[in-house]
Amino acid sequence: RVVVVGSANLDLVVSTPTLPRPGETVLGDALRTIPGGKGANQAVAAARAGARCDFVGAVGQDGFADQLRANLAEAGVELRRLRTVPGPSGVALIAVDADAENLIVVAPGANAELTSLDADDRAAVAAADVLLCQLEVPLPAVTQAAGWGRNAGTTVVLNAAPARQLPAELLDAVDVLVVNQVEAAMVAGLAAETGLDALLDALLRLVPRVVLTLGARGACYADRFGLRLTVEAPTVDAVDTTAAGDAFTGALAVAWAERRGPVEPAAVTAALRWACAAGAACAQRPGASTALPTRDEIDALYAQ
Ligand code: ADP
Repeated sequence: RVVVVGSANLDLVVSTPTLPRPGETVLGDALRTIPGGKGANQAVAAARAGARCDFVGAVGQDGFADQLRANLAEAGVELRRLRTVPGPSGVALIAVDADAENLIVVAPGANAELTSLDADDRAAVAAADVLLCQLEVPLPAVTQAAGWGRNAGTTVVLNAAPARQLPAELLDAVDVLVVNQVEAAMVAGLAAETGLDALLDALLRLVPRVVLTLGARGACYADRFGLRLTVEAPTVDAVDTTAAGDAFTGALAVAWAERRGPVEPAAVTAALRWACAAGAACAQRPGASTALPTRDEIDALYAQ
C-alpha cells in the first residue's frame, strides 16, 4: 500500500498562436481542463501501476473539485483522506503557443490549506509500505507525515519538486529522495552545472538514498551503503514528456512497496528499470495525467 500526501490541481489549458505580453489579449482555441498536481498525478501513477493507494490532500468547494475527485476515483485511488475545504480548488492557468512555449500561473487554493494532518492520516501513513510526498502542499504537513512514516517503519519517499532547500527535520525522516538534476542542485544548494557524482555525494550527506532522473538517459541511484548505479530508460519515440517524472516516481514507490526482503543491488536495479519503463511509457503518449501508464503497459516496456 502507498499513501500519497500532496497536491491536486486542475490545469486550465489554452493553446494560442503567440503568448500574450503584459497588457495584451490574445485569442486561443477551446479550453481544456486536465487534472494535474504532482500529488494527484503520482497517486494516479501508483494506482495504475498496481498499488492500493490512498491520497491525502484537499480540494475546494467548486465544480473543479468534482472533476479532481472523479479523476482520482476513476484510477482507483482511495479518497477517504481527501478533504473538502472552503474556497477554490487548486488551479493552474496555462497558455501554450505553437512552439510549445508556455506561460503558467498556479493558484494553490485548497492545497495551501493542507497545513496539518490528523490522527486518521497518521494511521493511514503508519499502515502503508511507502509514504510518497512532493513539495506542492505546505511543508509542515509534509514534515508531519514524514515523521510519522519514519516512526512507524513506513518507507518515506520524497520527490523534492518544486525544489527548495529543506529543513533537517524533514530530511531526517526521508529514506529515498527522488529528484531531477535541476532539483538535485537546488536541494543540495549547489550550482546547476555541478557534476552528477558531486551532486550525489552532497545529497547523501542529507538523506540515505538518492534517485536522480536523467530524462531520456534514464536514472541513477546512490546510497550511503556504498551502492551506486545507473539504469538506461527504454528507447521510445517521445512525443510529450509532461508527467514522465510523475509516472516514474509513482512507479518507483510501487516497486519499493512490493519489494520483499533487504534492499540489495538486484532489487534496486529492477525497481529503477521498472520506474524508467513507466516514465518512458508516459513520454510516448501526448497528454499529462491522461498519459500515465497502466501496470501492463509498464511491464511490456520493461520486458523489451
Ligand atoms: P522530470 O520531468 O521530473 O524532469 P525526467 O525528464 O528526468 O523527469 O523524466 C523522468 C523519467 O521518465 C526518466 O528518468 C526516464 O525514465 C523517463 N523519460 C523521460 N523522458 C524520456 C524519453 N524521452 N525517453 C525515455 N524515457 C524518458
